[in-house]
Amino acid sequence: MSIRPTRIVLLGALVALVVTATTSVFVDSTQSTATAAAPSAPAGSAVATAPISGVEKVYVSAVAATPQTSDDVNAAVTQAQAQSVIDQLNSYWSAQSNGAVTVQLGGFETRSLGETTCDPNAALSAEESGAFGGQFANDAWKGTHEHLLVLSTESCNADSFATVGGTGGEIFSGNGIGTAMGVPYLLHEFGHNLGFEHASASICTNTTSYDGTADSFGYSSTTCPTREYDDYFDIMGYTVKNATPNLSSPQRIMAGWMNNYATVTSSTTQTLTALGGSGGTQALKVVEPVSGDIYYVEYRTNSGLDATSAEFHYGLQCDPAMSGYTICELDSNASQGDVRVLRVIPFASAGANGTTVMATALTAGSTDATKRHTHLDAGNSFVSVDGSFTLRVLSTNPSSGASVSVTLANSSTGTSDSSSTPTASPTPTATPTPTATPAPTATPTPTATPAPIVRIPSSVTLRVGRGSVRHGSRDSVRITVRVAGVPRPTGTVIVYLNGGGVRAYPLTARKRGVISASLPRLTAVGYNIVSVVYVGPGNAYSWSAAGITVR
Ligand SMILES: [Zn+2]
Repeated sequence: MSIRPTRIVLLGALVALVVTATTSVFVDSTQSTATAAAPSAPAGSAVATAPISGVEKVYVSAVAATPQTSDDVNAAVTQAQAQSVIDQLNSYWSAQSNGAVTVQLGGFETRSLGETTCDPNAALSAEESGAFGGQFANDAWKGTHEHLLVLSTESCNADSFATVGGTGGEIFSGNGIGTAMGVPYLLHEFGHNLGFEHASASICTNTTSYDGTADSFGYSSTTCPTREYDDYFDIMGYTVKNATPNLSSPQRIMAGWMNNYATVTSSTTQTLTALGGSGGTQALKVVEPVSGDIYYVEYRTNSGLDATSAEFHYGLQCDPAMSGYTICELDSNASQGDVRVLRVIPFASAGANGTTVMATALTAGSTDATKRHTHLDAGNSFVSVDGSFTLRVLSTNPSSGASVSVTLANSSTGTSDSSSTPTASPTPTATPTPTATPAPTATPTPTATPAPIVRIPSSVTLRVGRGSVRHGSRDSVRITVRVAGVPRPTGTVIVYLNGGGVRAYPLTARKRGVISASLPRLTAVGYNIVSVVYVGPGNAYSWSAAGITVR
């Protein structure tokens, strides 16, 4: 049965927040007006997917959506540049897939759409029917391993999006082909075409285990609230300038791309080599004996592609709270690396899976369990929600690997097996199992869970004043906040320019959701990104961004 991939507008990226004045930021953005796919509700076991492999042919259509050039932010792409972009896609995805996926340039053309303004969805629709003689019309790409890649000279709201799965696909990007941002977006969007949903982060409100049952994870969950895109160690998370981190182990394992992992069904000690390296055991797939839930454990170090991750380049950054709990990231120790625990989030309607990294440890020097980051350091442990799986990080060493112990309750002493997969490298079964550790009887405590706080849906949009200004002059933005059921929303609106905080504006009821903000003098020639974040009562949170060209 073929699964019809829904046209889902997936944002390639979004704004990383500057939380402290000292954190300089980087990022870029797209606009959050589109609706992304919702995870299956209730969440549960992964959607069954077929192994992913093939020669993927990408047909690049270089498009001018409007006749005028005043709205152009990207140079028209030449065939040689298109070839270079495809080479970069091939290099990345071929490596991630262990050679199972090859990306080739299938064709190149330039087109003008004659629109008055660039609406990205309209532009892609027009391309879908008209590009390459109609080859992609009516989803004819399905099952063909052929992809339509539309690159616009206009920013088109700085949108990038793609279809998910379907053995082929369509991608639109208004973010160009620059190596700093354009290519990272395209790597992410091509990941959607291959069938991957977003890489997120979750923080469970159970402070005994920092875990929840499989159906507790989701973007609107109050038990294990999940923030979409929030995994900086995954190409399917936020798109960050100059960052092309690896695809995390759960997706690589489910895609059939990785053999050197161990399936753990009984207590064991293992050495995990860096996911970004090669050889050794690069991930554990832990089958929790009581619930049957699957957890993935991996070790990420400051080498290879992962050295580009924002995790190794920025200080601690904490998101707005969800259900009273706060996910923190970006403080990864470059000399030690991170051990991470991940789970899969199914998207049944898209026939695809996303992943989530779990907020498993206190932040440095803190005892506040409501504010946690998404990695484990040497000495840290993680206990599953019913207490029958304990992970201990014994030591970390980027050269020799991270030593971790897995204790599974109700399982006999034994070693891991990797029967499901022929291991390319010797299975690390040699390590004696430290079964001395009593099974953690961390009782499934009916914890005094704080009263769930409902996250109120909100949106923030911005309109830039002129959008194209001369070097050294100013521009303004008009910001509109809407909150479901609240005619006069209140809260705070923070304005960023090219990732750096400009100013926070109190949003009082008098303002009726509208704030006009002036920007500092614009001195960076080229494409500047203005992003705004709204944070309000009831965990309302949203963001948006737009571009200004400085001549
Ligand atoms: Zn995306």
